[in-house]
This record gives sequence, structure tokens and C-alpha cells, in this order.
Amino acid sequence: MPVTKSPTKTPSQSVLHQSVQFLKGVGPKRSEILGRLGIQTIHDMLSYFPRDYKDRTRIQKISEAKIGAEITIQAKILAINNRMARNRKYILEAFVTDETGTIAATWFNQPFLMNKFHVGDNLFLHGKVGAYKYLQLLSPEYEVIQDDETNIKEGGIIPVYPLTEHISQTQFRKIIKEAAHHFADSIEEILPKELLVKNQLLPLDKAIREIHFPGTFDTLKRAKTRLVYNELLILEMAMALRRSGIKEETGIAFKVGTNVDTHIRKLIPFTLTNAQERVIREIITDMRSNKPMNRLLQGDVGSGKTVVAIYAILVAIANGYQAAFMAPTEILSEQHFQTLQKYLQHSHVRMQLLTGSTNSKYKKDALEQIKNGQIDLVIGTHALIEETVQFKKLGLVVIDEQHKFGVIQRLKLKEKGHSPDVLIMTATPIPRTLSITLFGDLDISILDEMPPGRTPIKTFWISKDKETDSYNFIHGEITKGRQVFIVYPLVEESEVLSLKAAVTEAKRLQHDVFPACKIGLLHGQMKSGDKDKIMTDFKERRYDILVSTVIIEVGIDIPNATVMVVEHAERFGLAQLHQLRGRIGRGSEQSYCLLFGNPKTNEARERLKIMTKTCDGFKIAEMDFKLRGPGEFFGTRQHGLPELKISDLIRDFPILKQARTDAFEIVSRDPHLTQITHQKIRQKVLEAFKDRLELISIG
Ligand code: ADP
Ligand code: MG
Repeated sequence: MPVTKSPTKTPSQSVLHQSVQFLKGVGPKRSEILGRLGIQTIHDMLSYFPRDYKDRTRIQKISEAKIGAEITIQAKILAINNRMARNRKYILEAFVTDETGTIAATWFNQPFLMNKFHVGDNLFLHGKVGAYKYLQLLSPEYEVIQDDETNIKEGGIIPVYPLTEHISQTQFRKIIKEAAHHFADSIEEILPKELLVKNQLLPLDKAIREIHFPGTFDTLKRAKTRLVYNELLILEMAMALRRSGIKEETGIAFKVGTNVDTHIRKLIPFTLTNAQERVIREIITDMRSNKPMNRLLQGDVGSGKTVVAIYAILVAIANGYQAAFMAPTEILSEQHFQTLQKYLQHSHVRMQLLTGSTNSKYKKDALEQIKNGQIDLVIGTHALIEETVQFKKLGLVVIDEQHKFGVIQRLKLKEKGHSPDVLIMTATPIPRTLSITLFGDLDISILDEMPPGRTPIKTFWISKDKETDSYNFIHGEITKGRQVFIVYPLVEESEVLSLKAAVTEAKRLQHDVFPACKIGLLHGQMKSGDKDKIMTDFKERRYDILVSTVIIEVGIDIPNATVMVVEHAERFGLAQLHQLRGRIGRGSEQSYCLLFGNPKTNEARERLKIMTKTCDGFKIAEMDFKLRGPGEFFGTRQHGLPELKISDLIRDFPILKQARTDAFEIVSRDPHLTQITHQKIRQKVLEAFKDRLELISIG
């Protein structure tokens, strides 16, 4: 984390913010190398944590070697001998000594070791003791100690840093030792005492010393816990501050009486699931409160989010307010518009669809009506955030598929009202571990139950040689009147090549495989209007098969489509595969997902296996996150999280929860961190997030 220099720092802190060149052994050249590691100041140096440790706590003497037992020794090579055994096995023996005795380290069939070892080398060896004609270590683990490392003879737990080739571990350790020796005392505690006591945390200076030069594995663990807690507390403080900022606004206190409730329920043609009931209760509580709602609704594809949104929308409208419902694409906006028209046909709600292709003359009238309040509900794309769209009394903003919109866009829509309630819906399940961090400033509702009557999708992983059978099967489905998606991945990141592949494949499928079927083609280079036309045609059953190079719109609803074929499925990520599979299984018929692929890596195989085992989006997201880690999980998308230096959101989840509880508790008592005991935390949060404080969260 880059640290800003400020004249208000206390003297001891400014010591830590001196350049590393103040350390013995660091000249301009070293300082440049350290700079490349992101280390400029002594503070940076001390915050550069080891990536691993070597256990040198249990080094034994050769004289202690007992036949049959394992032993770790540090010894010097006296002689090296290699020979061919009678059974033609290659044997390499290194005779080593540590002044208490001599032992032979013996390796079989590893001739390359010959080049690794030299007489006079110092080694760490760990292995089982045997005896042939003399004492032997049989195929021991080994590590050659670099010349300049011999000064670690004292043993202990040795830190290993993530370094470049320009500086050795030993050199780096020496500098850290210098820094810790002279400056660790200047590290100031940032946490209030109660927090340290309550969580039994090491003081910060002690933790930093221990993380670099652990006394024991136990103190090392405590040091890690302290530093992880530190990092996560600062993260959660930012979330808590952001949320408390929103809570300080005064919003609309909607009235939701039995009258309104009964009225709304009359419009819903089915019994709500328990999960829907629970989430609606959560939303009602928010809407009644005079604090603005800021809620994220997570629910897998098909879990029934729309009706929950409709409930909230009708509450707003019943209270004399307008509502805006924003979706990421035209086709989804239209779909929502049609769905809501169906639900609301017996109500008095006046609806308007507003997208980029809304006819301009017609649009002018629409804008006028939105402005003077003749329209209650506007549904549309980001056309809704254009400046020309003005509301008379906007009380609720619903945003579908939130990950497609940037924070700024959401804020813009929100700002068209006076602190309206906000409901964000997402079908991309985010592992709990992440949502708690990433959306720490949002309240979260989860629809974790599917409406009844769904037939779970059957998923199969199909290898190349079984494709013909699959085509026969697909043909059978089409004969029954069903429709089929066939999706191709991006070929080597090139839309042009993948288009070619899809075009060629579409032709091949048409001529050789499905001559009697109607096949449509959808690709990423089409204009969005043309794409929509193809999708609409498919929806209206003018095609049996839709061959596509692009991810078919999230949320698109075509209940008659029962087969999803994914070609080269190994090239897709789990989240994508799950989204693709979500395009089917939307009707009452049995649906099938066929993953064609011959994965070459274990990870890819694992992904396909997971897909065949579960349809639960949350489980899949959690596994995806575990397979790939947070960075990959989010791809290149800017997620606004600062880089975590020492914490791992999965491994450290219990600490994260504690830090979160503590952060929210502190902010509830001291919303602006004005108390003297919170000054240092406040400064750290500002340093860590600076301009990001707005962007880490959704407003
Ligand atoms: P998503 O969460 O993916 O947006 P939708 O809101 O589109 O899901 O709902 C998927 C389908 O399930 C729709 O056809 C909807 O009418 C239906 N549905 C939603 N809730 C229920 C329910 N409680 N009982 C029966 N069907 C439901
Ligand atoms: Mg939806």
C-alpha cells in the first residue's frame, strides 16, 4: 500500500517513512532493486511479509541417528561416489559429516544429482536412517545451503520472501533484520486496547517482529492472526463507514399494510416459496424504515427474483411513488416488460419501456409522462440514466444483473430521486466469503430455494467419440418439438476465428447432421438489434437449433429449449458454464446439458466434473473461487478490493467475520471515527482506500 507523506505524522512514524537507504547495507543499487519489489520506505520493508518458512528447529546430530528413524541434519559433503549396482540401478552416494559423525546419503536412479552436489557443499538432509555396510540416509530430501547462508547455522524458523533474482534470501533477511532491530520499536499500535484484549491479539510491533523472525511456530501463528486481522479490519472498516454513510441519509418510509399486501398477492399467480416470503419480509422491513434500502438480492437463475422485485415495485407505487427497473440489455428489458405486463394486467399500474431503440418521437412523449408522474414504472436499459430521463417522484430503483453495471451507473439512476430505495439483483452467485467483503456495505438477501415443479437438469460430460450418439439424442429432442442451443467458445481470444468456427460448424451441422432442421446463427459481431432479432425468432420457434459464439444473454427465458450443448466446454470457466446451463430447464420438460470436451488439465477436468455433480450455483461459485482464487475469479474486472497482502479470504474466513463484527461495532459507536482511540485506524483506512472509498461499494 503506497503511503502518503504528510506533515502531520508523529515523529516516530516519520522515522518509519524514511527511505530504505537509511538501513545499513542498502545503497542506491539495492534500494533500486527493493523499489522494484514495491519497497521504498522502512515501513514498506517491515510490511514485506515472508511467503513461506523453513523449519530448522529440529536439526539433529549424526551421532543421534538411529536405524529406522527419521532425522534432519546439517552436514558437509566429504566425498561423492556414483556407481551402477548389479541390478543396473544407478546409485549416487554423498558421504557427509557434521563433526559428530559421518553418514552416507544415498539416492537411486537420479544421475542428474551428480551436477547438483560438490565436495565441500553444505546440505540440509531429511530422511530415514538405514544401514547397509555403513549408516545411510535413504533418498533423503535435500537442500544445498548457499555459501552466504551458512550464517543461519543457528537454525530456527527461517523466513522465505517472494524475491526477484537480483537479491538473495540471505541478503534480504539481513536487511529485514536491520530494519526490525532498529525500527520495530517505532511501530505504533493502531488498535484500541479493548480490541487487543478481547481478541487476544499480539501488539503490532511484536507481530511484525515475529512474522519475520518467529520464535516458535506458535508465536508465528499468533503473529499471522494479528496481521490478517489488521488487514481485514481495515477493509471492513471501509465497508462499515460506507454503509453508515448511506444509513445517515433519510429516505422514504413506505407504508406496507395488510391492504397493500393482500392487493399485491392477488396479482401473483402462484404460491411464493419460503425463500421468496423471507426475502419479501426483509425488503418490507427495509422499505418501511426511513433509511434508504440498499439491498443485494442473490438468487440462482430461475429462483424467482422477478416476482420479489414486483412486490417491491408495487409497494412503491401504492405509496404514490415511481419505480425504475434497469436491465443490462434490450432483450432483457423487453422480457421484463412483457412479464410485468402479464402480472400487472389487472392493476392500474402505468408502465413504460425505455431503451436505446425506443422510437424518438414516441420517446419524447414518454419522457414527458415520466417527468409529470403519469408513468408509475419505467423499465429499460441504461437509457434510463440519460439526463433527459427525469422522474417526478422516484421512490425505488431495481437493478437486474448488477455485475454488468458500473457503480457510477447505479449511482446515476439513484440520483434521479431523493434517496430512493435500491434493490440490486444478481444471478451470478458470489461465494459468501466474497460477498461479505465485496458487498460489505449492502444488506444481502438470498433466494436459496427453487420454485416447485422443476425437473433438475441432467448434465453429461461427453468425450469426442460419443458426439455422434449425442447428435442422435438431440435429434430425438427436436423431433419431440424441443429446441437446442449449441455454443462455441472464443477461439484463441479472437472473435473472428471463433466466428469462422461457428459458421463452419453451423454449415456442417446443417448439411451433415441435421439436414431437416432449421438452424440459426448468433455471433458476437452482430449488431445488437440483429442479435435481438435472432433471439426473438428462436424464442418464437422459427429455429430448432441456435448455434452461437457468444454467451447467450443472461436471464433469457425460452422454456421450450431443453438442450444446451457446449462445445470445447473445457475452455469455459465454471461461472460461464453455469450461466449457460441456466438457459435451459426453464419449462416443465426434462432438460439436458451436454458438455463436449477433452480437457487437458486437471483443473479443467475438475470443472466439468463439478458441473455434472451439482446444479447449485452457490456451490459452484464456492468451488470456482477455491479452484481459481479471488484474482482469477473476478478476471480483469475491477472489483475495487485493495490487494490483500497476508489474508486469504477462504482460509481466513473466521477472522474476516470477527473483523467485520468489530468494524461494524466500532462504526456504530463512532460513525466518523472521531474518537481519539480510533484516529490511527481512520488514517489507515484512508491510506488504504483513498479515492476508492466510493468505488468499493455500491450506492
Ligand atoms: P430469476 O430468478 O432467474 O429471475 P424468474 O423470476 O424469471 O427467475 O422466475 C423463473 C420462473 O419461475 C418464472 O417463469 C416464474 O414465473 C416462475 N416462478 C417464480 N416463483 C415461483 C413460485 N413461487 N412458484 C412457481 N413458479 C414460480
Ligand atoms: Mg431474472
